[in-house]
Amino acid sequence: KICWYEREMDDKTRQRNMMAADIRRGIHAGEFSLHYQAIRNIKDRSITGYEALLRWQHPQLGTIPPDVFIPIAEESGAIVPLGYWVLEQVCNESLENGLNRKVSVNISPVQLRHRSFIEKVREILMRTAYPVSLLEFEVTETAFVINKQLAFSVLHHLQKMGISIALDDFGTGYSSLGLLKDLPIDVMKLDGVFFRVSVDVNRGHTILKYIIDMVKELNISTVAEGVEREEQVEFLKSAGCDLIQGFAFYRPMPVEQFEEVLDGPV
Ligand code: C2E
Ligand code: CA
Ligand code: CA
Repeated sequence: KICWYEREMDDKTRQRNMMAADIRRGIHAGEFSLHYQAIRNIKDRSITGYEALLRWQHPQLGTIPPDVFIPIAEESGAIVPLGYWVLEQVCNESLENGLNRKVSVNISPVQLRHRSFIEKVREILMRTAYPVSLLEFEVTETAFVINKQLAFSVLHHLQKMGISIALDDFGTGYSSLGLLKDLPIDVMKLDGVFFRVSVDVNRGHTILKYIIDMVKELNISTVAEGVEREEQVEFLKSAGCDLIQGFAFYRPMPVEQFEEVLDGPV
């Protein structure tokens, strides 16, 4: 039984190692691409920005979702070159298609810890001539688990460069208020867990209302993500939420399609 178990583990490890090598190969082979999902102003419904989401089209395995390959890329360190590819691609694609809105890029904790992260970001911004005022990095609370001091100092530095910082997935992790006290962030992304249907939707609403009030006092703006139904918007508006993102309005889509959305009627 133990032997079998170990073999199982071995296979799993081997599979993950294979996929990690495949990710590095896939970057050069042009198998990765980005989809963009619109972020709207809750009041006038204008599109203020968009989130870049990574897609992998594997030659044999087909489409592999980020929830599957991002953890493996993080574990193996492949997220470092992949993350730089994402940033450079976002800058080039946004400029080439004249998107002219703020783009949010997901940054893994592993990337933040990479020694030359700040230098590399600066270099990519210079090379692509992308305006720093139109760039936002999304980080999750897990970025602060291993080395909080380092993460804080890197984020402060990025903020000084003019990049805005968003805290992603608030409500799903520890949602630590102690952390929030010192965290250098400009935007908070509130997870759909607060307003999606649950046993008692009023409880979620009450919690969310207080969080939004508190966060506003700290001069942090709020984005509700995972908004799936139009009727959730009324509540979010009354709670004072600034921006909304979700399947109720736009799904993530390739850049050409997204460009048409931007050109279309509000
Ligand atoms: P995330 O950063 O929380 O991104 C939002 C995810 O929610 C996306 O999934 C998006 O397609 C999905 N979503 C948007 N609106 C709705 C909605 O109304 N309902 C529901 N149920 N889902 C919605 P996706 O694209 O599969 O990405 C999954 C995760 O993979 C992301 O979660 C992020 O953690 C990670 N990821 C994606 N791209 C990157 C990247 O370039 N770098 C890094 N480090 N992570 C990435
Ligand atoms: Ca995100
Ligand atoms: Ca999120």
